[in-house]
Amino acid sequence: MAALADRIALVTGASRGIGRAVALELARRGAHVAALARTQGALEELDDEIRALGGAATLIPCDIRDFDALDRLGAALHQRWGRLDIFVGNAGVLGPISPLGHIDPKDWEQVFAVNVTANWRLIRSLDPLLRASDAGRVALISSGAAQRSEVNAYWGCYAASKAALDALARAYASETKTITNIRVMIANPGPLRTNMRAAAMPGEDPMTLKTPEEFAPKVADLCAPGWSETGKLYDFPTDSVKTFRAPG
Ligand code: NAP
Repeated sequence: MAALADRIALVTGASRGIGRAVALELARRGAHVAALARTQGALEELDDEIRALGGAATLIPCDIRDFDALDRLGAALHQRWGRLDIFVGNAGVLGPISPLGHIDPKDWEQVFAVNVTANWRLIRSLDPLLRASDAGRVALISSGAAQRSEVNAYWGCYAASKAALDALARAYASETKTITNIRVMIANPGPLRTNMRAAAMPGEDPMTLKTPEEFAPKVADLCAPGWSETGKLYDFPTDSVKTFRAPG
């Protein structure tokens, strides 16, 4: 039997890049994938590919900034399955690469809405469903931009949003560690060949980068019932699990 047979998984940002590769990998391992993104056509193509693998998907065309829709999503998943086994919070935006003093407040708010608040709203909406699973697994896709000892100039908005995501994940891990079967991991992909990376680094040759398809099996491992670590960082560039430390 496939390792994730009959597991129910929600993947956000499943229309392209890392989220799409993770959705396909989870489906390949037997999970039913609820795939969320705004681009309906791309979700339909993903659905075709998952069917071709012999898997099944549910498409959720949705703007993740529609927070009420995220509440309704929790209710709909509850009605259909009564539980959620896997939540991959991957949808993200780069936002302005710009000096902090030049960032438009609306742009800042949009980055935090997608990268931080939507993930909190999903944790809030999905928590009862993850608790109802025998092994709820959460993987939130962060970035080395947040974790470096020296944050890159002009990356402040993105880095701050991912640092907030890291703290959110670690708080949820602490809340759930001893009293539930939920395990929460942060994953750092490192530089991967996607649209977002190309926008961030237009001068870089994408062919020098690893692909989302290489990263996806590692994320799927974090989602398996046998995964036991929580509140830690899986770092793809070094293929290792790291523990957060106080500065000093
Ligand atoms: P990408 O190719 O730009 O894909 C981003 C995904 O997020 C798309 O599926 C997009 O779907 C979805 N998304 C964005 N805004 C959304 C919204 N308002 N509502 C719903 N979905 C939304 O980026 P990627 O490189 O795969 O990045 C995926 C994650 O990895 C992000 O969190 C990113 O910060 C992180 N990351 C990437 C790299 C890298 O090198 N690629 C490095 C470190 C971290 P729609 O546009 O269809 O809505």
